[in-house]
Amino acid sequence: MTSPLLRVGGLTPLTSLDYPGELAAVIFCQGCPWRCGYCHNPDLLPARGPHPVAWGQVMDFLRRRQGLLDAVVFSGGEPTRQRALGAAMAEVRSLGFRIGLHTAGIYPRHLAALLPQLDWVGLDIKALPADYPALTGVPASGVRAWWSLRLLLASGITLEVRTTLDPRGEFTSSSAARDGDFDSRVTTLMYRLAAAGVRRYALQFARGRSGPLGPPLSLRPDPAQSADPQANAYERLGPTLFPHFELR
Ligand code: SF4
Repeated sequence: MTSPLLRVGGLTPLTSLDYPGELAAVIFCQGCPWRCGYCHNPDLLPARGPHPVAWGQVMDFLRRRQGLLDAVVFSGGEPTRQRALGAAMAEVRSLGFRIGLHTAGIYPRHLAALLPQLDWVGLDIKALPADYPALTGVPASGVRAWWSLRLLLASGITLEVRTTLDPRGEFTSSSAARDGDFDSRVTTLMYRLAAAGVRRYALQFARGRSGPLGPPLSLRPDPAQSADPQANAYERLGPTLFPHFELR
């Protein structure tokens, strides 16, 4: 089986962070239809990028890593945007690697078809469903992401849900923009995810500058380095809701 049409924008040859507990390579798939203000991979958003990596090169690299790596993570961009993803995953699995996927859940029907091939998924749930359009620029985007969440929870595949917090940009065009409402939205989101059945959850703060799609961030201090009271509040709440919780 070949997957000549999978468009790849980059490759990380070795990481111990992108697939928990495994040594992995990361394939960055080209293309994403959403435009989150904090996106840090703007080169990967167009369907065709400035530095394409041929699929044959990717497979040659992975053949040389057989026995040295445990897993391969398909990341992006949004990997499920490409119809060639399933065939590409099958090729990679045939080399003996476990398959991980980073997704924002943008294409739940395609995700459903991919489920039998997946060993681990990191799913971005960015906000409550109604707050998504303000963040992604796309109507009804929250419906798609939360549909994907339900699919993954029902599948039993090992799942980590992540939320990136951008106190400057998140929910800015919604009624939640008022001071103080941001934090109540975040805690409501955490309760909703726990009630949905999420067991492993990570909150991560946007750091440094906002992605090139947005203006500089007015950052909340790094929670690991400061006594930011709200970060501490999340840190206290998280373990009461989720068996596995990380504040990054
Ligand atoms: S979903 Fe948002 S953060 Fe993820 S690649 Fe697309 S624009 Fe960037």
